[in-house]
Amino acid sequence: MKLETITRTFLNTVNGRHVPADATFESFNPATGEVIGHVARSSVAQVHDAVAAARAAQPAWAARPDAERKALMLKVAQTIEKHAEELALWVTREQGKPLGGLGPGQVPGSRFEVMGCKVWTEVPASLDLAPEVVFEDSARRDTVYRKPFGVVAAIAPWNWPLLIAIWQMIPAVRAGNTVVIKPSEHTSIGTLELVRLISAELPVGVINSVSGGGDVGAALVEHPDVDKIMFTGSSATGAKIAATAARLLKPTTLELGGNDAAIVMPDADPKAIAMDLFWGAFINMGQTCACAKRVYVHESLHDELVSELQAIAEAVPMGEGTQEGMAMGPVQNRMQFDKVVSLVESARQAGARIVCGGHPSPGAGHFFPLTLVTGLGDGSPLVDEEQFGPVLPIVRYSRVEDAIASANRLRAGLGASVWSSDLEAAREVASRMDAGTVWINQHGTIHPMVPFGGIKGSGWGVEFGLDGLKAVTQAQVISERK
Ligand code: NAD
Repeated sequence: MKLETITRTFLNTVNGRHVPADATFESFNPATGEVIGHVARSSVAQVHDAVAAARAAQPAWAARPDAERKALMLKVAQTIEKHAEELALWVTREQGKPLGGLGPGQVPGSRFEVMGCKVWTEVPASLDLAPEVVFEDSARRDTVYRKPFGVVAAIAPWNWPLLIAIWQMIPAVRAGNTVVIKPSEHTSIGTLELVRLISAELPVGVINSVSGGGDVGAALVEHPDVDKIMFTGSSATGAKIAATAARLLKPTTLELGGNDAAIVMPDADPKAIAMDLFWGAFINMGQTCACAKRVYVHESLHDELVSELQAIAEAVPMGEGTQEGMAMGPVQNRMQFDKVVSLVESARQAGARIVCGGHPSPGAGHFFPLTLVTGLGDGSPLVDEEQFGPVLPIVRYSRVEDAIASANRLRAGLGASVWSSDLEAAREVASRMDAGTVWINQHGTIHPMVPFGGIKGSGWGVEFGLDGLKAVTQAQVISERK
């Protein structure tokens, strides 16, 4: 990377201007430990400026004909496509996932993430929230209209820094809200660059950014002119935001952590399912909210499935993600890396079998090999806590009833999956699992038309599709006397 990039400070976009700040922080490449640039740290006054810009822009934006907002969303999608490679490079350098490719069989890396941004921009532009007559008789007619909230605060995590930012921003803007987004302090540059590029296609003040740590996020959600909070991140931070939102009576969408269980039924075919189950667990080095994070396998298939998964895990190339052909990168940050190390250590001390991987790789980057662990049961930290990294516990069971009870016993309720050759049996098990989405013979396969969100400790509200668009609007009933 060139010296001018490393010494450059990446700025926030507020009211169409690129604003410096008194303080900055460094952004690092997790594959090398090198500084890749500096980021302006927003002051509380700058958070207020950003919300004021969004507030000022919102009435005119909401008053625009819907067709104009849709057309502008499509221009945003074109801009993302035009700058796809430079954005993908930022994701790889900053987040760590390899560039990967886009064709069949290609690794879902940062090029996939940026193309996802394009698609998740086009789809909300294709959807309509038409007024709905919910009751009519000879005396009255009642119609539900969907109206924007006003100013939406978006707080994003570091695992899919551009894609999740798009999920938060685009439906909100499409529906007539304006936005202030704060990316994770671990992955700010790519998101600030995305905001700089796409906000240039929109009226000033429609999308604004601020950056910094949790204090900046807290200042944003506290702001009295924020009307709705979209948060994606850990359950611990979600609880703090929910407390603020309760005090200020602000609506929230909370997409929080998960600990997705995958149940492999006795009739599944280990050879046939291994590759899909592998990617369901290890996409983005396991740093995905809806990865399979604990696999319950019937005892009759356990050993065969473990060796199938081991063969895949040991063959997958891991390294610095700008090198073509890499399939796995580093863990994104030191805190997450330390968590993975300590969970694997706790498993080792409990007498678990480390089937492959298990020790950090040497060098400056946060590399940890893909690790499979067997011999654990419910109650082990590696099974019960969200590892959010490249390690997968595989738990043996003998009765399907027990596997369902194991899967459902935690507070997490984001996703789950059932793997079986008998679709009817799989559906029956799926219906009994406590999760916002239960996939059958796939895991984590989200789609822009299909609502996605957690239950229990994994949050509330959904994103994507018509339901996701509704979630960034409020219902207004107009009731007419005839
Ligand atoms: P995190 O909670 O540490 O941080 C998320 C964001 O919140 C960051 O931008 C951070 O600066 C900000 N923040 C921290 N404290 C804050 C406060 N008090 N007020 C306002 N903002 C604050 O989460 P993370 O480590 O970045 O992300 C990993 C977690 O996110 C995992 O648990 C993962 O499962 C979850 N996640 C969930 C989904 C989903 O859709 N359910 C998607 C991706 C990630």
